[in-house]
Amino acid sequence: MNIETGEREEATETEHAVPSVPVVVDREHHCISRTLIPESTLKVLYRLHRSGFKAYLCGGSVRDMLMSRTPKDFDIATDAHPMQVRRLFRNSRIIGRRFRLVHVVYQEGVVEVATFRREPGQRDDGELLVTDDNTFGTPEQDARRRDFTINGLFYNIADFSIIDYVSGLADLDNRLVRVIGDPDVRFREDPVRMMRAIEFASRLDFEIEADTWDAIVRHRDDILKASPARVSEEILELLRRGWSLDAFELLVETRLLEPLMPELFASLTSGDAEYFWRMLEVLDRTIQAGRVFGDGVFWAVLMLPGFFKAVEQEESSRGERLKPADAFSLVRDVVAPVAARLVFPSGVRHHVEQSLESLWRIQEVPSDRKSQWRLVFREHFGDALALFELHALSSGRNVELFKEWKAFARRVQRQEEPAPQAPRTGRRRRRRR
Ligand code: ATP
Ligand code: MG
Repeated sequence: MNIETGEREEATETEHAVPSVPVVVDREHHCISRTLIPESTLKVLYRLHRSGFKAYLCGGSVRDMLMSRTPKDFDIATDAHPMQVRRLFRNSRIIGRRFRLVHVVYQEGVVEVATFRREPGQRDDGELLVTDDNTFGTPEQDARRRDFTINGLFYNIADFSIIDYVSGLADLDNRLVRVIGDPDVRFREDPVRMMRAIEFASRLDFEIEADTWDAIVRHRDDILKASPARVSEEILELLRRGWSLDAFELLVETRLLEPLMPELFASLTSGDAEYFWRMLEVLDRTIQAGRVFGDGVFWAVLMLPGFFKAVEQEESSRGERLKPADAFSLVRDVVAPVAARLVFPSGVRHHVEQSLESLWRIQEVPSDRKSQWRLVFREHFGDALALFELHALSSGRNVELFKEWKAFARRVQRQEEPAPQAPRTGRRRRRRR
């Protein structure tokens, strides 16, 4: 990071006590340049500023630019009321019911503008209106209602300075994910923040600060009180973007995985799924190289240890390879508790079941070509093949078989493989006399 100011010292000394004035780092002492900010975002910031409003960049964009990373999006915070923003931009619309935001629409994308908010229930100091269902606040309140100190920084377009109410600069420097305020309170308010802590730590390669860590351990069971849809989305976020190995290590170490997926947690802590970690490593590497996987693959990866274990137990007690119908009923047994806990939509549940079923089927090459051919056209065959690949590469098992399947599927898709004869339907059409 490129910040070298006396102000920062002050931030560490006050040690996260409530600063009455923010630390302000002027343009000469930080690395955020306007050339890093998209044209349309700058337009919105400038127009708000020229109209007499505060106009700050906030959240992930400030954090990422200070770390010389490319931000995912650039959000704006202002003291202008949503209606005032709406009036300033012809090309804008108000969205959201509970928290009204303004979207300013440009050809190159949408710029999101939010009015400063405070945590509901906080005392209103009268500086900003409280209207309808929106709880507006001061810039400081807006910084304090955010999740982590590194996400609570502002970039002020008025003088290009960084404004820090929450000691975020110090934590960015020390590579720490620290909750703003009392972690016990903040995690109870929104348990998904525990998963976000793990996301940022693994994504940025930061440590989780000790009090924040302890609070995750204490409140891990609260994760089941959060909206299952948000939790599911957060689990997928941990898998989708190439940092899943670190994230799952943290999920196991903090035991946050235990309430979410006790079956997987048990497999991982008993050490009988070592290939799982290698699988995440392969997954991360492949994603970093640009490959995209469907969500069915991610869920199936998480259920693989449970499924293989169930198959193994069943086969050893029977002394023979499972028949397809038995394997499929095991698939359903493994998917059911996770689907119930995370309230999977039926489509997602079906997708995961199909992927695991196909995976089981392709572990043996069918003796006749017709069945082999038919498998390639099964729903979610591509996901099953991706799973097979991840498993083969991480366990070293069935690598040749995977290659054969891949080559076969490619030949079928390129129509280089002659189609087997259409199956007879059994019903013959009567010949007209
Ligand atoms: P990304 O690069 O993934 O977009 P981000 O930090 O911008 O990271 P967002 O999910 O886009 O994260 O949220 C934008 C900002 O909103 C965050 O930086 C944070 O300040 C605030 N925020 C998001 N989720 C929460 C939450 N659950 N509790 C409090 N503040 C939150
Ligand atoms: Mg963001």
